[in-house]
Amino acid sequence: MRARVGAKTDVGQVRDANEDSYLVEDPLFVVADGMGGHLAGDVASQTAVETIERRAGEASGQDPQSLSALVRAANAAIFERATDDPTLHGMGTTCTLALLDAQKVHFAHVGDSRAYLFRAGSLDQLTEDHTLVGRMVREGRLQPEEAENHPQRSIITRALGVDDHVDVDLFTIDVHEGDRILLCSDGLTSMVDGGAIADVLADESDPQEAADRLVELANRGGGEDNITVLVIDLGDDAATGGGSAAASRQSTQPDDAVSDDVIAPRWRLRSRLAVAVGIAIVVLGALTAAGKVVLANSWYVGVNDSGEVAIFKGRPETIAGLDLGDEYRTSRVALNDLPSFVRDDLRQGLPAESLEDAQSKVSDLENLAEDRDFRRSQDRDARAGKSP
Ligand code: MN
Repeated sequence: MRARVGAKTDVGQVRDANEDSYLVEDPLFVVADGMGGHLAGDVASQTAVETIERRAGEASGQDPQSLSALVRAANAAIFERATDDPTLHGMGTTCTLALLDAQKVHFAHVGDSRAYLFRAGSLDQLTEDHTLVGRMVREGRLQPEEAENHPQRSIITRALGVDDHVDVDLFTIDVHEGDRILLCSDGLTSMVDGGAIADVLADESDPQEAADRLVELANRGGGEDNITVLVIDLGDDAATGGGSAAASRQSTQPDDAVSDDVIAPRWRLRSRLAVAVGIAIVVLGALTAAGKVVLANSWYVGVNDSGEVAIFKGRPETIAGLDLGDEYRTSRVALNDLPSFVRDDLRQGLPAESLEDAQSKVSDLENLAEDRDFRRSQDRDARAGKSP
């Protein structure tokens, strides 16, 4: 399908640098929103885009899994750089990719950048946000419109580059002439509500003008984050083999192979998004002020439901009753085996810089528990009402 494309990226009003990157290489389009200190986020999003660009020829509408392979290759490239260079440690990026195909668009997606379909005046979000608040919406704990302004909306649960493995969402939609695809980073959607985005897409027929106006709106709304917008207008070249970039790059066999992947848009945005209210929140403080945070990249040592010391992946906090940590490995130590000054810290959760750091903390605790073996056995006897 032939496309006319508008693209714009902007640093916004608050940040020092633009850590978003994008790729326009019809029929392949990508938005990546990087995170990490000291420009590492910029390295992450650029590495994603460059890796995908270099391997763009491998993207095939006949085999949507090829998109997942591209995103995984980007993940591996970022993870490798972050492992090799300590100053880049912990960097990561979102990645939302669209591949135009005859009468279809295929998507691969990780993180909280978004893809939307604008059709007949109505804006539908196609991607699922891999964020904590997105999870709360899916579990029915939060309304979609409450999530838009939620203070913890920048905590993401998936990103490229933070682990050697990444789960990639893959889906395909049917499209026709006149459809518009919007790809954007959260710098747009956190500043401009869905109704206002839809208004611009309805009013402005030129895709570049539309992209410019959306960025301008986000800046007027505060521009608190980098803003990237791609507006992709699907044109009239629907006939197979019509000589478009898409057709020349790909074969034009029937699309039965991917027809099962067609999904319905997840939810329709209301024209006005309400401000989040009435949610009990344990604020994560400086964490979220610093920008995007990846849960998957955090470790701590804490206590499980059985009172055993364990390593957890995630954060020790709870938001609206939702645990942010998942037990990863149980230790040989019970909380009651440890002195009381350590117990309090463990109940709060001891943050660790990495899995290795968490493991070394657990070894220390195991040693500490062994030192106390004698007294512990006395305690146990006392609890059991026995005398030595
Ligand atoms: Mn962002």
